[in-house]
Amino acid sequence: MIVGVLSIQGDVSEHYWAAKKAMEVYGFKGDVQLVKDVNSLEKITHLIIPGGESTTISRLMIKNGIFDKVVKMAISGELAVMGTCAGSILMAKNVVDDTRVKTLGLIDMDIRRNAFGRQRESFEADIDIEEFGKYHAVFIRAPIIERCYKNCKILARIKRDIVMAKQSRFLALVFHPELTDDFRIYKLFFDM
Ligand code: GLN
Repeated sequence: MIVGVLSIQGDVSEHYWAAKKAMEVYGFKGDVQLVKDVNSLEKITHLIIPGGESTTISRLMIKNGIFDKVVKMAISGELAVMGTCAGSILMAKNVVDDTRVKTLGLIDMDIRRNAFGRQRESFEADIDIEEFGKYHAVFIRAPIIERCYKNCKILARIKRDIVMAKQSRFLALVFHPELTDDFRIYKLFFDM
């Protein structure tokens, strides 16, 4: 297993260290690498798309050719992909409020950017995750998954809002697992 952290913009080093630690804690054999260009995608089995600014990440992925290659590898089943916060926006089929972000469209869901509004821009909350129960999540200018359809499966909500979903080997969460020392989400992803 070789885990790649998309190294374009955002929480790159935090994900890198969290993924390393998660491998160690749960006894996964393999390596974690930074993905900066198409060539460094070659041997990757699991790709993490960090939080940051989805418009920037999308634009730069297209510019350096990573975008098309990720879609190809993901659809052919070679690559599992986890998108967190801005990364989750890239996983969606549609961004309901922003047509500038071109998304990978790997999960049948509609997402809304910066959806928690000004006063709740950043907060922490306990949520219940379908696969493993209680989890303390950190939200920073998070999007909300407005709708899951076809094969998209809802894994967690805050009140009525969907905050985590999966489909086949693709995972989307609107919060930041790299900012806590609970590595169960990485394990869930590595097991895919
Ligand atoms: N608000 C950012 C966006 O829309 C996401 C914020 C984050 O990743 N922390 O891209």
